[in-house]
Amino acid sequence: MSARLELIVGPMFAGKTERLIAKLHRAQYARKRVRILKPAFDTRTQGSIASRAVNADGGTEITATLPAVRLRHAGDFARHTQGDDYDVLAVDEAHFFPLDEPAGDLLGWFGRCVRDLLRARAKSDLRIIIAGLELDFAEAPFGPVPGLMALADSIEKLTGVCMICGSDAGYISHRIVPGDAQLVVGDTGEYQVRCRACYEPPAQRGRAALVEVKKAVG
Ligand SMILES: [Zn+2]
Repeated sequence: MSARLELIVGPMFAGKTERLIAKLHRAQYARKRVRILKPAFDTRTQGSIASRAVNADGGTEITATLPAVRLRHAGDFARHTQGDDYDVLAVDEAHFFPLDEPAGDLLGWFGRCVRDLLRARAKSDLRIIIAGLELDFAEAPFGPVPGLMALADSIEKLTGVCMICGSDAGYISHRIVPGDAQLVVGDTGEYQVRCRACYEPPAQRGRAALVEVKKAVG
């Protein structure tokens, strides 16, 4: 008997939350007690985690939800993981938990809380299942997810369908609106899944735009 950390990673629209919810349903069929947490930063669905599917209009619709508690800081994590009357702890959208400023490690407060909980309950059959993006729109490791991947016992790396060429190898959430901020909550109006071949890094797009401007100017 030993506590386990399972990660589900991949770009937006890859089915991470759908996979997480499927695992939680299976745990509930097995009469396991489940707790679900999410970062307060994700304001799209306040008190729940939600899987989405792209609909015929190109927007998204919610396909399944489960109630979740929103976390703002380590104190919230401690309060909501107290006791041992749960067998599975699930966390969605983990990339929204911040790293320290300046960065002290690759875990931030959320990753350290997860590590401490795994240590405290190491000799139990606790399962912690965490879903999140491992890469941001600029192809940089995203928040505490890469650090958590290093701690994990298992990792499922999902891909999406590339919205440009239709290949099954979509691995990044390409941002289609301008801006350098890493944390922009968005949907199909802001992001596209793209494969490596169809992805354009922001710097290249900036240069391409500059060439266009220079052509236009003279
Ligand atoms: Zn592609």
